[in-house]
Amino acid sequence: MPKVVIIGGVAGGATCAARLRRLDETAEIVLLERGEYISYANCGLPYHVGDVIKSRDALLLQKPEVMRARFRVDVRTRNEVLSIDREKKVLAVKRLETGEVYEEPYDTLVLSTGSSPIRPPIPGVDSPRVRTIWTVPDTDQIRAMAREPGVKSAAVIGGGFIGVEMAENLRHAGLEVSLVEMLDQVMMPLDFEMAQLLHENIEANGVHLHLGDGVASFADDGRAVTVTLNSGKTVTAELVILSIGVRPNNQLAKDAGLPLNQRGGVVTDAHMRTGDPAIYAVGDIAEVEDLVFGGRTMAPLAGPANKQGRIAADNIAGGDSVYRGAQSTSIFKVFDMTAATTGANEKTLQKRGLAHGRDYERVIITQNSHAGYYPGAAPMVLKLLFSMDGKKIYGAQIVGREGVDKRIDTIAVTMRLGGGVRELEELEMAYAPPYSSAKDPVNMAGFTAGNVLSGKLRFADWDALEKTPDAVLLDVREDAERMAFQLPGAVEIPLGQLRERLGELDRSKTIIPFCAIGVRSYNAARVLMQHGFRHVLLYPAGTRFYQSTHYQNFQEEPMTEVPVSDSGVPQSAPVQAVRLDCSGMQCPGPIMKVFETMQTLPQGASLEVSASDPGFMKDIDAWCRRTGNTLLSREHRGTDYVAMVRKGAAAAPAQETVVRDTPQGKTIIVFSGDLDKVLASFIIANGAAAMGRPVTMFFTFWGLTVLRKGQKQPVKKTFMESMFGAMLPRGSGKLKLSRMNMGGMGTAMMKKIMNDKNVDSLETLIQKAIRQGVKIVACTMSMDVMGIKAEELIDGVELGGVGAYLGDAEESNVNLFI
Ligand code: FAD
Repeated sequence: MPKVVIIGGVAGGATCAARLRRLDETAEIVLLERGEYISYANCGLPYHVGDVIKSRDALLLQKPEVMRARFRVDVRTRNEVLSIDREKKVLAVKRLETGEVYEEPYDTLVLSTGSSPIRPPIPGVDSPRVRTIWTVPDTDQIRAMAREPGVKSAAVIGGGFIGVEMAENLRHAGLEVSLVEMLDQVMMPLDFEMAQLLHENIEANGVHLHLGDGVASFADDGRAVTVTLNSGKTVTAELVILSIGVRPNNQLAKDAGLPLNQRGGVVTDAHMRTGDPAIYAVGDIAEVEDLVFGGRTMAPLAGPANKQGRIAADNIAGGDSVYRGAQSTSIFKVFDMTAATTGANEKTLQKRGLAHGRDYERVIITQNSHAGYYPGAAPMVLKLLFSMDGKKIYGAQIVGREGVDKRIDTIAVTMRLGGGVRELEELEMAYAPPYSSAKDPVNMAGFTAGNVLSGKLRFADWDALEKTPDAVLLDVREDAERMAFQLPGAVEIPLGQLRERLGELDRSKTIIPFCAIGVRSYNAARVLMQHGFRHVLLYPAGTRFYQSTHYQNFQEEPMTEVPVSDSGVPQSAPVQAVRLDCSGMQCPGPIMKVFETMQTLPQGASLEVSASDPGFMKDIDAWCRRTGNTLLSREHRGTDYVAMVRKGAAAAPAQETVVRDTPQGKTIIVFSGDLDKVLASFIIANGAAAMGRPVTMFFTFWGLTVLRKGQKQPVKKTFMESMFGAMLPRGSGKLKLSRMNMGGMGTAMMKKIMNDKNVDSLETLIQKAIRQGVKIVACTMSMDVMGIKAEELIDGVELGGVGAYLGDAEESNVNLFI
C-alpha cells in the first residue's frame, strides 16, 4: 500500500488528497497542515471582512473530521513540516500544540505549501496595527479590529487584487480608506489606460488613492499608525493592511535541494513532478508552462492550483495527466466594476521586445453587456492584443459592470484552443436581448481586429491627444452631447453632415475622429478614408474612455453609495420628486428625456432620473451646469445610477450678476427631402432644444415634403399643382436615403437598424421636436411654387416667409443649411 504525504491542506493539497482517494481506495494518504483549517476559501476572506460574506462557516469548505470520514485521509492540522530527508524519504514534523517533533515516512510526497504575504523590513512594520490577510485567523482579527470603537480609518498598502478587494471591503465596513500603491497603477495585469477606469471608480467610491508613492515608514502612537510615504505625504489610520505581494513558501524545497527557478518556484515537469521523481509540487510554489509565450512561468492563482493538485493525484495513481500551461486568466471585483484579464498585457509584450504595429496590433472598443434597449445594459471596455497575422491572441483585458466574466472566459478559451482573430469573429454565441447582442462584444472585438489587420481602420493611442498635438480632433457627436462634454479645440461636425463638410478638414494633417463610444467615429473614419484622407486614426472607445483615462482632469464629487434592499428599493427615503426612468436608453436619449420632463415642471421642482448607463452621471453634471439647473445628488443604487436635479439655479448670489447677452438660438434650413439629411436635421434640432436653446427649422423646396400629411387631403388644386403633388413624396414616411436607396431596400434596412438600435424614427423625432418647442416653419414662397397647400401639412407647423426666418437667424449663433 503506497503512502502519500501531502504538505499543505488548502487549494492544491486538499484537491490532490480528495482526487487521490477517488482514484485509489487502498492508498495511505496523510495531509499535514500547519494552520488550524484545511480547504478554506481564501479567495473569499476579504469579503468576510466587509460582511458581504456574512457566515464565517461558509468559508470553511471542508472540515478535517469530514475529510477524515469521507475520504479516509489522515488529516493533521497544526502539524508543521520542518524538513524533508529525500534520501530516507522521511519528514520531520512538529506538533504545534505540544512542540513535539516526530518523523513521518513517505513513498510519494506532494508539496502544496502555497505562498505568504511579503512583510519587508520597513521601519515600524511590526506594529500590531499593521496586518496582512492570508488565513482565517488573519481575517478574524482584521474583521474584529475594523469594528473596534475608535477605529474609523484604514490604510491599505498595495494595489494588487487583495489590496483592492480589502479597500472595497473596509469601505463596506464603514471605514475611511486610503489605498497606497508604489507604482502608477493598481492591478498590474491591466495596462495603465485600462487601470485608469478602475482608479476613477475607486476614487468615485470614496477611497483616497495614492499612486506612484511607496511607504517609507510606519509610526504607531498607540492609537493610530502614521504612514509616511516616499513623497513625504502622510496617511494616518487606526488599521493598516499590508498587501504588497507574495512569495512562494519554498524553504522546505530549497533545504531539500530541489531545483528552484529565479523567482523561487519549484521546477516541475508537465506531470507536476519535481527534480525528485518521488516529489510533486503544485499551486503557488510550482513553476509551470507559459501558455502564451512558451517557456516557464509562475501562476499563483486558485484555478491553476486546483487543477495541478488533481493532475498530481492522477499521476500518483498511475495515470498520465499533463498540465498544459497557465495563461493567468483572472477576474476582480472593484466596487460595482469588474476587471478581468487573460494572457499577456501590452506592457509584457513590450518588455519582451515586441513592437506595436510591427509584431502585434491592438484594439480597444466599448460595447454594451447586452442589447441597449433591454434594461440594465452597461458598457464594457475591451482591449485585445494579437499578432500581425491575426493567428495568435496574446491577451485581453476587460473592464465593465456586467457580463465581463463570460467575455474574458470566451477569449481565454479561444486562446487555449489556439484560436485567433478569425475565430473571435466566427464564434457563435447565445443571444437574446437580456444577455447579449446579436454581435456579441467578443465578436465585435474580432470584427474590429479584422478591420485593423485588413487596413480598414487604424487606432490612435489612448493618449494620442497629448502625443500628437498637431492632429485634428474631429468630434462627430451631436450638439446635445457636447453640452455634457466638450473637447477644446476639436472640429465639430456631426456624422450626418460629414460628407458635405469634408472641405473643412485639413487633409495634410492626422485626423482623429471620436464620438461617445467609438461607433459613429468608426463610420466617420471610413467616410474620411474613402474620400482620400490618408492619415486617419480612430480614437479608441470614444469620449467616455477619454474622460475616464484622463479622469483627474475632470474631477467630480464622489457618488454616494445608497444601500438597496433585496427587493431593489433604495433604503434611504428620497426627497419628494418626479421620477424618470431612462434605463436602457442610448445616448443622448436620457439627456433629451430630462430636458422634456424639466419643461413640464415648475421652477424649483425636483426630478429624480435613473439610468443604467454610468456615462449618464457625467453627462448630467455638465448638462445641469450649462443649462442653469442644479444637480442635487448623484448616487449609485444597486445597478442603477440616480441623479436628483432641481429645476433652476441654486440659491442666487447676493450681488447683482451681469448676464452676458449672446445669441443662443439655432436655425436650420431644411432644403433636402432625403431621409438621412432630414433625420440629421431633426437630431440636431432636438439636441439643441434639449439644451434649452431656441430652435427654428425652416422648410423650403424638397424639405417641404417632410411636413406633408401621409393621406391625400381634399384641397382644390390646379392641374399643374395636382401633377406636382402626385410626384412629390407624401410625408416623412415616404422619404428615401440620399445614397444606397437600392430601390427602397436601403431605406427599409436603415429603418430596421434604427429600430433595432432603439434610435427614434423620423416621425418620433418630428413629434419630439414639436413637443420641445422647436419652431417648424414652412416656407410659403416655396409652398406656392410647389403647389403645396396649408391643409396638407402636419399639425404644429407655422407658415412663414424669409423675413420670419431671417429674424430668427439673427438671434442664433448656429445656422445650418441641410
Ligand atoms: P494555499 O492554498 O495557500 O495552501 C498552502 C497551505 O500550506 C497553507 O494552508 C499553509 O499553512 C500550508 N503550509 C505551508 N507550509 C507548510 C509546512 N511547512 N507545513 C505544513 N503546512 C504548510 N486566487 C484566485 O485565483 N482568485 C482569487 O479571487 C483569489 N483571492 C485570494 C484572496 C486571498 C485573501 C488570498 C490569500 C489568496 C487569494 N487567491 C486567489 C490565491 C489563491 O488562494 C492561491 O493561489 C491558492 O490558494 C494557492 O493554492 P496552494 O495550494 O498553492 O496554497
